[in-house]
Amino acid sequence: MMSEDNVANRFDRQKFLGGNAQEQITAFTVGVVGLGGGGSHLIQQLAHVGFQHYVLYDFDTVSFTNLNRLVGATVEDAEKKEKKVKVAERLIKGLQPNAIIRSHQSRWQDEPEDLKTCQLIFGALDTYLGRKELEECSRRYLMTLVDIGMDVHTGQDGIPIIGGQAIISAPGGLCMRCMGFLTDEKLAQEQALYGGIGSRPQVVWSNGVLASTAISMAMNLISGWTGAAEQSLYLIYDGNRMTVKPNRAVYSIQEPCSHFPPEAVGPVIL
Ligand SMILES: [Zn+2]
Repeated sequence: MMSEDNVANRFDRQKFLGGNAQEQITAFTVGVVGLGGGGSHLIQQLAHVGFQHYVLYDFDTVSFTNLNRLVGATVEDAEKKEKKVKVAERLIKGLQPNAIIRSHQSRWQDEPEDLKTCQLIFGALDTYLGRKELEECSRRYLMTLVDIGMDVHTGQDGIPIIGGQAIISAPGGLCMRCMGFLTDEKLAQEQALYGGIGSRPQVVWSNGVLASTAISMAMNLISGWTGAAEQSLYLIYDGNRMTVKPNRAVYSIQEPCSHFPPEAVGPVIL
């Protein structure tokens, strides 16, 4: 067991977060949905920052093709097809031995009860549909969602283009539809490809940038340490120029979200 003194000393270097930030970090329950390339970086950082309560979801196991990016996974994990939730648990426990981890080797939709106990959810999912469903749940149960995603496609000149985004969708605020990130067109296109999406290109450094960006956003949300009046809600990663910039279009949206009315909370009554 770690003594209180050790715990206090341990976070000396992040005291600038101020006030009771560390107490909040300790008290919060964070959910991470998707423990692949992006999610594994999130886990690592959440554990270093000091989170103690986790709800984890990933139905997948480790394969050799994951090892180019899956933080915490080893060759042995790939050989024995270790569960990704187990790799995440090991990573957390190595830094936070007393952490309380509720992990599910399933889709969150199949075992949603634990998810609803989170204050903050990180989504690191592959699909727009997955994000849509996770956002719907996060709104219903008044949880803040921080979503990350990356994509590699080929530009007109044949050069690979790495892009990505980190988005905060908080109850009462703009949602991913308001921000223009989730659209019916994207969902329909994805549905048309269903089963044919294949294995998408993914690299460790882009996932790292996006996860770090998401954690930055979340830490400011929790502590307000930057003192900025406006929280960045939608940051765009350009992996070719190696920049992260705000999506300025979001700042000009005046209308409140109409997609999630305030009364649409709690369990769905059929
Ligand atoms: Zn909306």
